[in-house]
Amino acid sequence: MKKIEECTECGDCLDKCPYELDIRRLLKENYEDYFNVLEEFKK
Ligand code: SF4
Repeated sequence: MKKIEECTECGDCLDKCPYELDIRRLLKENYEDYFNVLEEFKK
């Protein structure tokens, strides 16, 4: 998960995804979700 922090938003992955996913946005959103879920578990 920590590798996500290294995303430079270069966009190189966009052409490679056969599903045309917006990988830059999805990485950030899922990274946030990951930490939000962790916080919920701590309660
Ligand atoms: S935009 Fe895509 S290819 Fe570029 S650093 Fe982020 S994940 Fe890697």
